[in-house]
Amino acid sequence: MHFLNEIEPATFPALKIIIAKWDKQVHGILLCKAWRGINTHWYGKRTIACCGTENCPACDVGQKPVRKFYIVAKSLRTQNEAIVMLTPPAAGQILKHARLSTGVRGLEIVLGRAADRNTSPMTGRVCAYHHDTAEFPVDRLERILLRIFADNACVKSVEID
Ligand SMILES: [Zn+2]
Repeated sequence: MHFLNEIEPATFPALKIIIAKWDKQVHGILLCKAWRGINTHWYGKRTIACCGTENCPACDVGQKPVRKFYIVAKSLRTQNEAIVMLTPPAAGQILKHARLSTGVRGLEIVLGRAADRNTSPMTGRVCAYHHDTAEFPVDRLERILLRIFADNACVKSVEID
C-alpha cells in the first residue's frame, strides 16, 4: 500500500498533458501562479521539445518551432490534476485576468477551439476566480515537464522558461 507522502520527490507521479479538442473542452482551475513555455514541434507523430536549431531533427528538416505554454489545472468535477497546454493567444486571453499576488492561480478557465477541428485556433476564457486555491509549485511543474519531454528521442536538454 502506498501513501503519497512516502513517495520520494524524484518519483512523484508525472501528470498527463491534456489538450483542448474541438469536441472536448478543458475546464478547470489553474493551480500554478504562472505557466512555463517550451518551443515544440509536431514530429514523428508526437510533440517533442525543440532542442535548439543546431541539434534538432525537426528544425533540420525546416520545421519552425511552435511556442506552447504548460500549467497544472484541477478538474472541478473529478478533482483530478493534469497539465494543460495553452497556445500563446489562449494564454494571452487568460493572462488579462491575472492578479498581482497570485498570478493566474485560482482562475477557472475553459479552453476550446474556435472551429470544429483540433487544429483550429485555441480559445481561452476565464469564468470565475477561486481565491482559496492551494498552490502547485512552479518548480515541481518544471521538473515534471523536463521528465516528459526528456523522454522524446532527440532531447538531451529542454529549455523551459
Ligand atoms: Zn527544433
